[in-house]
Amino acid sequence: MRKTDDKGNLKCTICKEWQEPSNFNRNKANNSGLEAYCRGCAYIKSKYHYLNHKKDYRAYSKRWRDTHPLQYALIMYNYWAKKVETLTE
Ligand SMILES: [Zn+2]
Repeated sequence: MRKTDDKGNLKCTICKEWQEPSNFNRNKANNSGLEAYCRGCAYIKSKYHYLNHKKDYRAYSKRWRDTHPLQYALIMYNYWAKKVETLTE
């Protein structure tokens, strides 16, 4: 079970601060139903992760485009079709 203080606050595993449960994102995989770290830390964590894996993300989307040429063409088609729509309105 997750430790809570006498006010029912949870401790963030990253910044080690006690915070209200509403400051934690939901996570069904956890016993408490909440993420182990607060929203602020979750945001920084995902930013940090993205910056660290930028190259991977780019390589991944390129690989996806190469392996799904039809889906990619459809996405691009829809993207430009929408653009044209807004231009002609
Ligand atoms: Zn935190």
